[in-house]
Amino acid sequence: MGFNRRKMEDERRRVAEKEMTTRRATDAQVLEDAERLIAAWNERQAKRMPMLFSPTIGAAITARYWFLWVRCPACRSTSSIDLRRLDRHPDAAVSSLIPAPSCRSCRPNAPFAELVRLSPTSIADEMREEHRRRLLGE
Ligand SMILES: [Zn+2]
Repeated sequence: MGFNRRKMEDERRRVAEKEMTTRRATDAQVLEDAERLIAAWNERQAKRMPMLFSPTIGAAITARYWFLWVRCPACRSTSSIDLRRLDRHPDAAVSSLIPAPSCRSCRPNAPFAELVRLSPTSIADEMREEHRRRLLGE
């Protein structure tokens, strides 16, 4: 291998390593921002404050908050949507999903679903966990 070629490969490797480091730093920052944004949004939703912003589907997935919990204002039943299974653009806000999850038991006149929170777990997961805790007497 000639000197120039080696020099070029060294240079290419150096650039690739630098890009990797930058990408890792960006990923960490994106994750941190997404987590902070979702925590703030969840808090506002819990207090039923007016929605001023909404995390994107991509932000929720990045932060591993894979489930959007929704509640039917008519019958008060809650369900969860797995964001990973949706065919939506990741830059779409989770609030753009509002018209979609209409309550099965209230159809055909189901009101718009209320967004409860973003969660790392589904409702089924949470019920299983609660059942387990009750069995163990925790
Ligand atoms: Zn309902």
